[in-house]
Amino acid sequence: MTWEPVIGLEIHVQLKTRTKMFCRCPVGFGAGENTQTCPVCLGFPGALPVMNRRAVEWTVKLGLALDCEIAPHAVFARKNYFYPDLPKGYQISQYDLPSCINGKVLLPTADGDRVIGIVRAHLEEDAAKTVHVGGAGGRIVGAGRSLVDYNRGGVPLVEIVTQPDLRTSDDVKRFLQLLRQTVVELGVSDAEMEKGTMRVDANVSVRPAGESELRTRWELKNMNSFTFLGRGIDAAVREQVAVYESAQEVVQETYDYDADSDTLTPHRSKEEADDYRYFPEPDLVPILPAKLLDAARELPESPAERIRRLEPAVSFATAWELVTTERDAEHDKLVAAGVEPRTAANVVRNEAAGVTIAEPAELARVIEARDRLPREVYLTAVEASAEPGFGADSYLTKEQVSDEGSLEPVVDAVLAAHPDQVAAFRGGKEGLLGFFVGQVMKETGGTANPKLVGDMLRERLQS
Ligand SMILES: [Zn+2]
Repeated sequence: MTWEPVIGLEIHVQLKTRTKMFCRCPVGFGAGENTQTCPVCLGFPGALPVMNRRAVEWTVKLGLALDCEIAPHAVFARKNYFYPDLPKGYQISQYDLPSCINGKVLLPTADGDRVIGIVRAHLEEDAAKTVHVGGAGGRIVGAGRSLVDYNRGGVPLVEIVTQPDLRTSDDVKRFLQLLRQTVVELGVSDAEMEKGTMRVDANVSVRPAGESELRTRWELKNMNSFTFLGRGIDAAVREQVAVYESAQEVVQETYDYDADSDTLTPHRSKEEADDYRYFPEPDLVPILPAKLLDAARELPESPAERIRRLEPAVSFATAWELVTTERDAEHDKLVAAGVEPRTAANVVRNEAAGVTIAEPAELARVIEARDRLPREVYLTAVEASAEPGFGADSYLTKEQVSDEGSLEPVVDAVLAAHPDQVAAFRGGKEGLLGFFVGQVMKETGGTANPKLVGDMLRERLQS
């Protein structure tokens, strides 16, 4: 039987606001433990939260980029549970009235677009960071002691929940790569999995190909890179298929992926109860984003849209690479200046890699002449095109000289000036050819065609 993986994602993205979600404590790495705290984010009785306007704006902006409907009326709720990383005894989150719902993201692939539905994107505060010391693998059970750093408590997070529309770990990685690039380009988050500013949980189930209903799923947590996420998903798919094929049923479970052993281990949940007794947060007003919408609507073109725009002038693989390495803006400049798209793609990924082109029209002239230019002159010109005011003319005059008639006097003069070396060459030291070529290149200011010069020299030296 053929089994189809069914994968949905829950992604937490930490917003890079200057201050926390509901207080004015700074957000940042590297500060001493528990130094970025105040009565609000430590949950002191009587302290009142004040909404971070920037975080709300960015959530709306991100929601629009995910093609979501923006709720005209969004409400914060209290999610109640008891744990030391939550000093108030509840987390402020959005529940039944989130800011963004019903979105979709285009995922371009080599064989057509896939559309990944977005269930919701909502704003919430992060919990503090707990560190379990002395326990195996940082787990709670068996830990000697547990430490809490409240610097992270109250930092704004957007949680993005997708529909179970993904089918392979490769698509998951590509989807996350584009999502990550989208939030980075919007300027709302650094979204680095290694630093925990982007965290991904995956819901994975399998079903016989052709079946449309969802089957029991496993939730995978704590995967801190795209690679481990992909491996964790592949492991879950393998194991679930094995369960079904041995005529057993998959039981709902939460797992951690252990990269060292490439296996899934049951996740020890810190929250036993699923009933969080949500209720509206009475200390915060609802969000009515009407005024924010106009400003947020001026969205840049998304990475997926750019990939699709670059095709078919360049291949899908090239388009993907240009966009995900953020070289497509330079590519666009050259194409606008008349350079053939595939040539432009090669130039910006190779000789012009790292160059921000200041004068594309001038560089286009250089590229057009590149076959006639000495390689070094061409490369120097490409590099110089990053300077405002760069002009092609001074480089184009150094066109390669491939005209035998005009090189002849130089070649003859070089041979005449080095009789000892000529004798040595004729005596068997053929390695001296490079020396003669070098002399001719020097005399011509690097413009002579080195291959032609070599041929001319050899002809004369061997006669
Ligand atoms: Zn604070």
